Amino acid sequence: TEPELEESKEEKMKREREAREAEQRSEFEQIQEARKQLPMFPYRDDLLKAVEEHQVIIIVGETGSGKTTQIPQYLYEAGYGKLGKIGCTQPRRVAAMSVAARVAVEMGVKLGNEVGYSIRFEDCTSDKTVVKYMTDGMLLREFLGEPDLAGYSCMMVDEAHERTLHTDVLFGLVKDIARFRPDLKLLISSATLDAEKFSEYFDFAPKFRIPGRRYPVDILYTKAPEADYLHAAVVTTLQIHVSQPAGDVLIFLTGQEEIEACEELLKQRTRGMGSKIGELIIAPIYANLPSDMQAKIFEPTPPGARKVVIATNIAETSLTIDGIKYVIDPGFCKQNSYNPRTGMESLQVTPISKASALQRAGRAGRTAPGKCFRLYTAWAYQHELEDNTVPEIQRTNLGNVVLLLKSLGINDLINFDFMDPPPTETMFRALEQLYALGALNDKGELTSMGRKMAEFPVDPMLAKMIIQSEKYGVSEEICTIAAMVSVGGAVFYRPKDKAVHADNAHKAFHRGNVGDHIALLNVYNGWAETNFASQWCFENFVQVRSMKRARDIRDQLLGLVDRCEIELLSNPQDIDAIRKAITSGFFYHTSSLQKNGSYRTVKNPQTVHIHPSSGLSEVMPRWLVYHELVLTTKEYMRVVSEIKPEWLVEIAPHYYSKNEIHDQAAKKLPKTLGKVAGES
Ligand code: ADP
Ligand code: MG
Repeated sequence: TEPELEESKEEKMKREREAREAEQRSEFEQIQEARKQLPMFPYRDDLLKAVEEHQVIIIVGETGSGKTTQIPQYLYEAGYGKLGKIGCTQPRRVAAMSVAARVAVEMGVKLGNEVGYSIRFEDCTSDKTVVKYMTDGMLLREFLGEPDLAGYSCMMVDEAHERTLHTDVLFGLVKDIARFRPDLKLLISSATLDAEKFSEYFDFAPKFRIPGRRYPVDILYTKAPEADYLHAAVVTTLQIHVSQPAGDVLIFLTGQEEIEACEELLKQRTRGMGSKIGELIIAPIYANLPSDMQAKIFEPTPPGARKVVIATNIAETSLTIDGIKYVIDPGFCKQNSYNPRTGMESLQVTPISKASALQRAGRAGRTAPGKCFRLYTAWAYQHELEDNTVPEIQRTNLGNVVLLLKSLGINDLINFDFMDPPPTETMFRALEQLYALGALNDKGELTSMGRKMAEFPVDPMLAKMIIQSEKYGVSEEICTIAAMVSVGGAVFYRPKDKAVHADNAHKAFHRGNVGDHIALLNVYNGWAETNFASQWCFENFVQVRSMKRARDIRDQLLGLVDRCEIELLSNPQDIDAIRKAITSGFFYHTSSLQKNGSYRTVKNPQTVHIHPSSGLSEVMPRWLVYHELVLTTKEYMRVVSEIKPEWLVEIAPHYYSKNEIHDQAAKKLPKTLGKVAGES
């Protein structure tokens, strides 16, 4: 009987395999069916015809109509993939990843093969990749290696209405290459109806409109302004949950911290309600959320339950989540602004524009009538919100972009064809800084140093620091530090109930109190010594996620260092050499302690403070180099290290005069303040 049993086992496996395959097939068929239901689908052939007839077209269609996921596939199906890659840019990393993953499923291929994505510090493409999603910033960098985008047959600049800095610069570049690459098809797509401006800019390119399906959305305002919108959002969610018919909720908040706080509050509040209410599934989404957790927002909600998606602006137009019937809009987003006079950048919670409010409300009416709860008054909507968001190019530091454009041989930036030009002052400030860093000569031309700096996809000051680190024999340490400051998310964490433990653990990294840069290096090296153990992170109150990202970034930087033939040298004991290397990139960012206990930036003088999260916030050394200035409740320097003033003259003699430093250093300070470097 043995052999018979064997056989039936095999048969069973075969049957199971077949069942599995059938299931996958039917899932695939369902997906293909769903594709045909999208508002975009009836216009497929017309669109392809328009692409054939015109080089540039402007596509306008409501969020969720299928622009991002479908158009590149249509182009692929029509054979454009045989002529070159089909590119599609996204302003946000998460969107590029998520959309590529979705399209890979729809095409039945493995992500990274025919369909891939490329975002800074992460390339998920291969030789096979034909449909490529990428951030707008990554496409900009591709121009460095391929100034005519020769590898592409079609380029879709998506989410054009977002008007990010990189998208705005791309407009100028793609418009230019379209002239000498008549075979390149350009698609500019936008979610807003006001596409006239795009059309005009692209020499009156034809507009292709996809009529949206939209159900009515009831807009409800608060009677009085809300003092605490986070709290108000939680209360509103719970009210919806207990009183409104089925349908998922989408809450717009401004960032990871708020989203996590909201998640926590919601969990606390529902715990108390017990089994009286239906299940509330909480799904956060923000830029630094690991990709395996991002998928949760798209999972269908089981009957009886309600999903609450808590999102940043990403859910405004970049990602479409089906099943949303209720939108909660507190009316704020995080927006950067930049003061070219002081060099102060701030990422501040700012009221959204009317255009944004409209988009947000629209998310509630995609599949059925919905409701939008605006946590502000109707009066505030009418009188306090701007009509449109100011394009990013007019409110950000241009150092990076100017270096990139110079590297592309675009010298006359003042006359570059910007859709909306940046403030002249901001442009001059960027040129001046690049000159100080040695990236440009006094004629404004790119130097060999500038060319090298442009190789690094990081801020010019970081690039300079990395390049100079070889001279100080600490290139390995500097790459680690550069990676740690680039993670874009907190490294340390401090749970309220274990604050003392966390503080003690963190203090160990700040041994010697020489600065936050060295502390970050200590964290990384400590983790690396344990062979990257997550347990070590838990024990030391360090974010595993940030560390993993730092490791990826570090690997990339080491690769670039190798490519630029910068020797990899290590000398972890030489703290001064490390700080000098930092100063050689960041001499632009220095400050000295004043009598009143505040700091004053050495150039473009203004009053600043050490960020409370710094290990030096109580030490208060006399001279500091800082990574960045951020304006939150005060003007803060974030990530600071102590330096010696004479280093400035030694490292940047073209920028600092002896007298300037001497005068500052000679000022008497009260005894309690400011230990001069070297004194004990
Ligand atoms: P548009 O770019 O016009 O806003 P999209 O192409 O992004 O539209 O979305 C079209 C449809 O694809 C939407 O119904 C959306 O819900 C669905 N979709 C997009 N990404 C995913 C995903 N990761 N999982 C499931 N569905 C998705
Ligand atoms: Mg889209």
